[in-house]
Amino acid sequence: MSDSPSKINLLGLSPSKLEAFFEELGEKRFRATQVLKWIHQFGASSFDEMTNISKALRARLAEVAEIREPEILVEKFSKDGTRKWVIRMDGGTAIEMVLIPDGDRKTLCVSSQVGCSLDCSFCSTGKQGFNRNLSTAEIIGQLRVAIRSYGPFDPSGERRVTNVVFMGMGEPLMNFDNVVDATELMMDDNAYGLSKRRVTLSTSGVVPALDKLREVSDVSLAISLHAPNDALRDQLVPINQRYPIDELIASCNRYLKGLSDKRVVTVEYTLIAGVNDQPEHARQLVKVLRRLPCKLNLIPFNPFPNSGYERPGEEAIAAFKQVMLNANILTTVRRTRGDDVDAACGQLVGQVMDRTRRSQKYIPVVQEEPIQGKTQPL
Ligand code: SAH
Ligand code: SF4
Repeated sequence: MSDSPSKINLLGLSPSKLEAFFEELGEKRFRATQVLKWIHQFGASSFDEMTNISKALRARLAEVAEIREPEILVEKFSKDGTRKWVIRMDGGTAIEMVLIPDGDRKTLCVSSQVGCSLDCSFCSTGKQGFNRNLSTAEIIGQLRVAIRSYGPFDPSGERRVTNVVFMGMGEPLMNFDNVVDATELMMDDNAYGLSKRRVTLSTSGVVPALDKLREVSDVSLAISLHAPNDALRDQLVPINQRYPIDELIASCNRYLKGLSDKRVVTVEYTLIAGVNDQPEHARQLVKVLRRLPCKLNLIPFNPFPNSGYERPGEEAIAAFKQVMLNANILTTVRRTRGDDVDAACGQLVGQVMDRTRRSQKYIPVVQEEPIQGKTQPL
């Protein structure tokens, strides 16, 4: 994305903010709907394309506004259909983005921040520290870039992105307003029209922000639990020292209660060898999960240099899963996908770092493995 701070980037305006923008220009509010459709349904990048808007207004818009999306630096295709991009954000920062096809589903994993301040001990983003929040335009721009990569821009077509998960870089609830605006655009019928079940915000448990989210959104929720007791979670997910497991579970239950439809929380649990993968941990986890309508997603640890942690062996993963299944907890194991592009991506990250002097993150490339014949939306 090039920097032109004087112009407002309409790509990042939520439906209500776009209405306010047009009102301020002295225009009717329905212009917002027209422009929203041009930008997000037809992928317009210039006002000239907007043929149902008068030439005079188009000229005026071009003076004060722009439609600017992130630039693709690198695009990679895996043999299994997984796509990976390195995209350039404002100011030269670059992030990685992954699209994972799985049957009819195409799940896009987006980032909300460059880096993260929450410092979870097993997370490479956390280890890099916090750089900055992404703007709404930079978040929604990730979706637009992914859709465009399939050829003619068509968010509702057969090859569309069907699901979005905030499981890339950053803690979405620490970038609250921009993330909420981006999810609004993802779910708005005049924009991307994704159902609320297909947009999932993953959080490590910023409880006050989660309580605030309930007031403004009904996006689907995933929580990064990773430990079945506070002593261990305090070490792995330091924000637990402020908002312990009991408070997080209570907040999730409040969130679910506020929804108009019946939904469950996805609980993410990264399995780390010898740390949180023992039978005793599984038994404790059963007790915690009994208190929340949920499904469990086990994520074998993705190693990165100097992490000090290891991925458990297949037997330990299977044994852990079995304890959960025996307790009738719906459980999936995420499997690494796109290995062939991963290796290349590591090298590419090096090149990008040289150019941008910013740190990069390895985003796990994943797939859910259906258990007992059930496939689940993430
Ligand atoms: N900040 C948010 C979302 C981004 S991380 C959160 O923490 O939920 C998306 C998921 O990947 C989280 O569950 C996170 O804990 C997990 N994760 C991070 N590093 C990982 C690693 N090295 N191996 C496996 N999972 C990891
Ligand atoms: Fe941040 Fe999530 Fe990584 Fe924790 S797991 S450091 S919250 S990105």
